[in-house]
Amino acid sequence: MRRYSAFAIAREAARYHTGWERAWRSPAPKKAYDVVIVGAGGHGLATAYYLGRNHGIRNVAIIEKGWLGGGNTGRNTTIIRSNYLQDESAAIYEKARSLYENLSQDLNYNIMFSPRGVMMLAQTEHEIRGYKRTEHANRLQGVETRFISPKEVKKLVPIIELGGPRYPVLGALWQPRGGTARHDAVAWGYARACSDMGMDILQKCEVNGIKQKNGQVTGVRTTKGEITCKKLGLVVAGHSGLLAEMAGFRLPIESVSLQALVSEPIKPCMDVVVMANTVHGYMSQSDKGEMVIGGGADGFNNYTQRGSFHHLEETVRALIETFPIVSRLKMLRHWGGIVDMTGDRSPIVSKTPLGGTFINCGWGTGGFKSIPGSGWAMAEMMATGEPGDLAAGFGLDRFREGRFIDESVAAGVAH
Ligand SMILES: Cc1cc2nc3c(=O)[nH]c(=O)nc-3n(C[C@H](O)[C@H](O)[C@H](O)COP(=O)(O)OP(=O)(O)OC[C@H]3O[C@@H](n4cnc5c(N)ncnc54)[C@H](O)[C@@H]3O)c2cc1C
Repeated sequence: MRRYSAFAIAREAARYHTGWERAWRSPAPKKAYDVVIVGAGGHGLATAYYLGRNHGIRNVAIIEKGWLGGGNTGRNTTIIRSNYLQDESAAIYEKARSLYENLSQDLNYNIMFSPRGVMMLAQTEHEIRGYKRTEHANRLQGVETRFISPKEVKKLVPIIELGGPRYPVLGALWQPRGGTARHDAVAWGYARACSDMGMDILQKCEVNGIKQKNGQVTGVRTTKGEITCKKLGLVVAGHSGLLAEMAGFRLPIESVSLQALVSEPIKPCMDVVVMANTVHGYMSQSDKGEMVIGGGADGFNNYTQRGSFHHLEETVRALIETFPIVSRLKMLRHWGGIVDMTGDRSPIVSKTPLGGTFINCGWGTGGFKSIPGSGWAMAEMMATGEPGDLAAGFGLDRFREGRFIDESVAAGVAH
């Protein structure tokens, strides 16, 4: 595939952009692959990419029932950070954050990574204690975070209201190298690189059965016919429970809807990401000028890609407390995604009871930030058959053994 470069843009400009080739192929499915990955979201595509790049496994199909990146990967609010509490989490999220730093160069695709800084507001004494604990843990883990004063918060975010009607801002956990990236571009960049390595991305192809023999996976049934494989990766976020059922095991996962909304575009007014866990809302400004806003997840299980109205109302109310200027903004659109929640708010990157089958899920409301690290770890596990250091703690066995990786503080407002 031809590389994207300044020279290529100039050349195409001179010939009215008629020479661009398609970013990825849309092939017909082959009868057999070494590896099949179900789910062409960020995590599935990243798994395929690192299988090829790090382990030389390229006879791979990535099967997607809709369009690539059309699941949560294309629906999230793009926050990237690694200020988690537990060592296992800090390791995988920091690996992901550091891979994001050079992902555009690595993929030769501009993912618009913007390390603008992420702050999580402390608005109760309890939150101050929680975030100071995280700051200390992060120092030991080599993750750069700092607890900052309300004065520093105001300096970084002039539009914030420090003395809100219910909860004043008492400080914040600040990660200067956190930020955002363009979510679609992450999926598109990985897809293009996978296609370039000869992998097949099969869109509009739903997996509706998993074939097995003597406890070993042999292939999948799809709406485009049967495909055999030696190894199978299930990377379908909110649909993980359904795929696990097809494979014959159960998961400790609940699927709920999480929603977000964007405002009309306005002039640049906020150049960091702010999350307010106590009042439950968060906001950043996109490159187009829209304010990107998110809140909490629905309190009941469902598979709809939209959210309930009361959440929308609560999120906007929370935002108005923290940023009074929001009350003057018109909202343009809102949407929802089906997120996969575990009890300890940590992911599952694991072998499964079905031989040759691996699962990557449970990223819940915060898995965009982990895409590169998760793909890296999942690819290592699929290539070698065993989880490496990054994935070791995230096995399914932790739920049986009570070895939880509790991230309820880090995942407070989700994301
Ligand atoms: C509103 C919202 C805001 C969020 N904000 C953030 C944030 O700011 N920061 C952050 O880090 N994370 C955030 N997240 C979470 C993040 O988006 C997800 O954790 C992440 O995108 C999951 O990626 P994935 O590749 O696992 O899943 P997905 O992108 O959902 O991909 C899974 C794919 O599997 C496909 N699939 C399902 N079943 C089948 C089948 N039977 N056959 C074939 N294909 C199938 C689906 O169509 C889908 O495309 C947010 C999520 C939402 C919904």
